[in-house]
Amino acid sequence: MKIRAAVLEQVGGPHHVVELDLAEPKEDEVLVRLQASGVCHSDQNAIDGTAPTRCPAVLGHEGAGIVEAVGSRVRRVRPGDHVALSWAPSCGECEECLRGLRQLCGAAWPAMGAGALMDGTTRLSRSGDPVHHYSFISSFAEAAVVPERSCVPIPRDVPFAVAALVGCAVTTGAGAVWRTAGVQPGERVAVVGCGGVGLSAVLGAVAAGAGEIVAVDRVPSKLEAARDLGATRAVLWTGTPEATAEAVIEASGGGVDYAIEATGRPEAMTAAFLSTRARGAAVLIGIPREDAVVQLPALSFPRKERRVLGSLYGSSYPERDFPHLLDLYRRGRLPLDRLISHRLPLDEIDMAFGLLTGGEATRVVLELA
Ligand SMILES: [Zn+2]
Ligand SMILES: [Zn+2]
Repeated sequence: MKIRAAVLEQVGGPHHVVELDLAEPKEDEVLVRLQASGVCHSDQNAIDGTAPTRCPAVLGHEGAGIVEAVGSRVRRVRPGDHVALSWAPSCGECEECLRGLRQLCGAAWPAMGAGALMDGTTRLSRSGDPVHHYSFISSFAEAAVVPERSCVPIPRDVPFAVAALVGCAVTTGAGAVWRTAGVQPGERVAVVGCGGVGLSAVLGAVAAGAGEIVAVDRVPSKLEAARDLGATRAVLWTGTPEATAEAVIEASGGGVDYAIEATGRPEAMTAAFLSTRARGAAVLIGIPREDAVVQLPALSFPRKERRVLGSLYGSSYPERDFPHLLDLYRRGRLPLDRLISHRLPLDEIDMAFGLLTGGEATRVVLELA
């Protein structure tokens, strides 16, 4: 079939919205008519080369839509089902999956790196030449063929824009607070970087009953957004990790139990670590450059029992956690729609990334139908 999609021809951009060919789903794949896609910093990392990405490619990994057709062996969903899409289809059989660490499943990484689906080939093409997928989803398009394991059925009354955000930012941010950190009621939390992921961490901290929630960002409007969503204190990034951490320690009344870092910048990771109190932990979510290195004061590991925790996809399991997150949204416990600052059509995709990199946007959603 023919679809309209935003193609990144080469690193550096821009996008071109063009017509592509989308092949039928294979036996364990699903054709999804996309309705909404969030625009995430990881897409920006692909555009600017921070994360090496095969081009030409259709980016987008935070999508939701309606199942249109399924392969012969698909059992999880049927045509007509509403789905949120996971960019981490786990195999259920490898060592990590058997240890309960589905987000760390190794089976999907080679195909993801090749810009293909699980069998190493693409369903996207143009004049017979392959166009690469991105994180199995490629949601900057009218439709996508995705692995069955990327499809998580959702209730019909959930707006697609909200379901799309659950596909990456919300699960990553709230999951880091709940599942990686395991924040307890009354514990103090800092969130360094208040984009879509960081603000999701703020919402997660509020829902977990955290005490002080200190938002940190270099953009005042994002701090305001964080306060609107429940952050109790705001700290403007001062330019150095040390001074910023001092301000967080002051604002939190002596340092935080968990400092969630959602930018991927080493200096922000350092600030997060230095913001913790004794036994506290920096929780690192942001995706850094491949060659990034963080320097930390080693003495405070033993002397203060400070810790560093890595977190991928909020240490979550999409099949279990997407429905839970959306249930909390439906009951008004997690106001996920308030994360969305802008809604744009697919044709305005470069403007969407301008809003993201310019710091004005919390989350931009592309409306695809
Ligand atoms: Zn993302
Ligand atoms: Zn696995």
